[in-house]
Amino acid sequence: MHVETVCVSAGRNDRPGEPLNVPPVFASSFRTGGEYDYARNEGTPTWAALEDAVGRLEGGTATAYASGMGAVAAVVDLLPPGSRVVVPVDSYTAVRHLVAARGHTVDLRDITDTAATLAAADGAALLWLESPTNPLMDVADLPALCAANTLVAVDNTFATPLLQQPLALGADVVMHSGSKYLGGHADLLIGLTVTADPDLAARQRRHRVLAGATPGGMEAFLATRGLRTLALRVRQAQASAGELAVRLARHPAVTRVRYPGLPSDPGHTRAAKQMTGFGAMMSFEVAGGAAAADAVCAALRVVNAATSLGGVESTIERRARLAGQEHVPPSLLRLSVGCEHVEDLWADLDAALSG
Ligand SMILES: *Cc1c(COP(=O)(O)O)cnc(C)c1O
Repeated sequence: MHVETVCVSAGRNDRPGEPLNVPPVFASSFRTGGEYDYARNEGTPTWAALEDAVGRLEGGTATAYASGMGAVAAVVDLLPPGSRVVVPVDSYTAVRHLVAARGHTVDLRDITDTAATLAAADGAALLWLESPTNPLMDVADLPALCAANTLVAVDNTFATPLLQQPLALGADVVMHSGSKYLGGHADLLIGLTVTADPDLAARQRRHRVLAGATPGGMEAFLATRGLRTLALRVRQAQASAGELAVRLARHPAVTRVRYPGLPSDPGHTRAAKQMTGFGAMMSFEVAGGAAAADAVCAALRVVNAATSLGGVESTIERRARLAGQEHVPPSLLRLSVGCEHVEDLWADLDAALSG
């Protein structure tokens, strides 16, 4: 079955007389004697529907958590105390803070350098990967790095399972912030891990039971509802992103565009091999530094000046304004292209840039 069909059809009720979609089940306790007893232990039918769908998309057993960081914790907390963890220099900043907070050693690496990353992974307890990375849009050689002789986790939030399936590329575990593309409407927090290793899956479930980062019933329902249109949303946004990247690259106020779909992008060849599309995330730098970039954000009317990504609504953010982004150029704007008409997005960007 194609991923588009799995998005629409997985995780449904199939018994006669039942609603087509598993409704939000608001329950902590269930009557004794059935499949479910207490939600934190066995989950709920609503969580199971989402886990079934995302598990089938990524090719493993999925576990849902209260947020993407809840999912990260269910990977990081399984490591032996005092582990060394290789983390990309450019990656979601909270991951390295959590690794450090749990008492592990953070070994920051440029994951575009495959040989150096593999050497660093040797003897580490975990190689954490993100590709494309946030916000520099670096592309890691996933097949090569997933062959590292250590546990390999891939944050697949930017690519979505529609465009990249890390387990098939050799990863041990995939992590999603479902708050982004899977939910797709900037209205919920949820996270997932997926692994094809039954022992690892059982340990991750146990982590959820003990640490308690359980998803909400409404959030799990909305995430599955969002997943139904994932393919439509990502294809539409991706087509617009490809067009906007070309036009931005030609704009006199733009000094650099980072989008793996551009043939000139350093990650283009790798992305073309391991992804089925280049996605709808990009970053670009503007002439005039941070102040000019802030002025662009303030002038936009269709694109929303806001953090986060992966929604039907386009969002833009100057990432270097945040702590932990010292390696990011000051004028870099991260753009999450949404589902508005591409000509409205372009008119908005062009006007703000030409300010
Ligand atoms: C948002 C995000 C996370 C964290 O997810 P939350 O749902 O906010 O906890 C992790 N990785 C990436 C790439 C993200 O964009």
